Amino acid sequence: DGLPRTVSADLGVPTVHHTVTDYANFDHGATTPALVAVAEAAEQVQRRYGSVHRGAGYASQVTTGWFEAARAQVADFVGARSGDEVVFTRNTTDALRLLAHCLPRDTQVFAWESAHHAALLPWAQDRTTRLPVPTSEQHAIQLLREALERSPEGERLVVITGACNVTGEIWPVTELVAVAREFGARTVLDAAQYAPHVEIDLDVLGVDWVAFSGHKLYAPYGAGVLAGRSDWLDAAEPYLPAGGATSRVHHDHTQWQLGPARHEGGTPNAVGAITIAAACATLQTHRATIGAHEAQLHGRLRAGLAAIDRVSIVEVLGDRPNVGVVTFTVEGYDPSLVSQVLADEDAIAVRDGRFCAHLLCDAVVGDGACAIRASLGLATNGEHVDRLVAAVRRLVEHGPALSYVHTDEGWSA
Ligand code: PMP
Repeated sequence: DGLPRTVSADLGVPTVHHTVTDYANFDHGATTPALVAVAEAAEQVQRRYGSVHRGAGYASQVTTGWFEAARAQVADFVGARSGDEVVFTRNTTDALRLLAHCLPRDTQVFAWESAHHAALLPWAQDRTTRLPVPTSEQHAIQLLREALERSPEGERLVVITGACNVTGEIWPVTELVAVAREFGARTVLDAAQYAPHVEIDLDVLGVDWVAFSGHKLYAPYGAGVLAGRSDWLDAAEPYLPAGGATSRVHHDHTQWQLGPARHEGGTPNAVGAITIAAACATLQTHRATIGAHEAQLHGRLRAGLAAIDRVSIVEVLGDRPNVGVVTFTVEGYDPSLVSQVLADEDAIAVRDGRFCAHLLCDAVVGDGACAIRASLGLATNGEHVDRLVAAVRRLVEHGPALSYVHTDEGWSA
């Protein structure tokens, strides 16, 4: 078919590694399996790596070259503007925490309560304005405008979720950035769920920073990215004051590096950075095919589940483009029982719970309530979608095939 072997012949999208071929993976929102191209990049690095930025030997030079090429690839992936920098972090949580650490004194932060806890909690509580969970796109925009109008002058940062980890809804990023800019506020995009599915262009989106994780981007655990404006980052104390972050240590003071090195103290996760870059390159090459594949599967999944009596689909903004998530509840069934039945009886992986977004779940699922999240991606195909829809229908109509008891460890058959 002329496709490289890292692209599946039947679907035309990049292939990922499966441990069990019959397994229907609807848990991409939590962590994605490795792309074949990523696993190959990891293997290549593992065979010959040396110290990064710390040696003159061959392996050290090669690895340093790969590490800095990875940074350039990631800069390209996010459409970095001149003056932007890419800092490698541990994950999105760490990237947002790094930005929180770098905020100028007295910066006021604005975040919707629908945000993932990683985007809601790292900011100083007494300088954070929490906007309620909105009910529509227009409502989200209005809440921001009103809060900014009421706030005093000074440095301000608006935290925008690219795609909601509970509903998969893509937020109106450019519209929100436009409002923020009217008030001179800066913006950061939590792209943990957005980056795997939607092209990021910092220039077009107008956000000042973007944060995302490798393990949701078909790359391994342990590496993430904060990319964007360098001024606040260069003016802040190093995030990890250590080797690599210093240019000269004196008896009574230390001179710190500028640029990414300032916040990347210690030996970096070179394998993480290189594999994120491999994932970025693959996703960039295949964006259009991946988007079409996921949109088609999402439409089929959503319509299939919506047609089942007693199934309710969770929405916040409603009627927005979606990254491939359907979160739902089944009347009369504990969500954790539903996910256990799906795993045991049909080899389907979903996630149940409150998705590190407690205030969102309180607002749209119910006070203290849980739901079931099906999040699709490159490991999902049409048969998986049909299997999930049929399994939920069977559960609603006939109950579980096995008999389940609830113990401290959860449900068991
Ligand atoms: N933001 C969003 C929207 C997420 O979905 C997640 C992960 N569930 C995070 C932030 C945090 O990502 P990580 O756990 O990789 O730090």
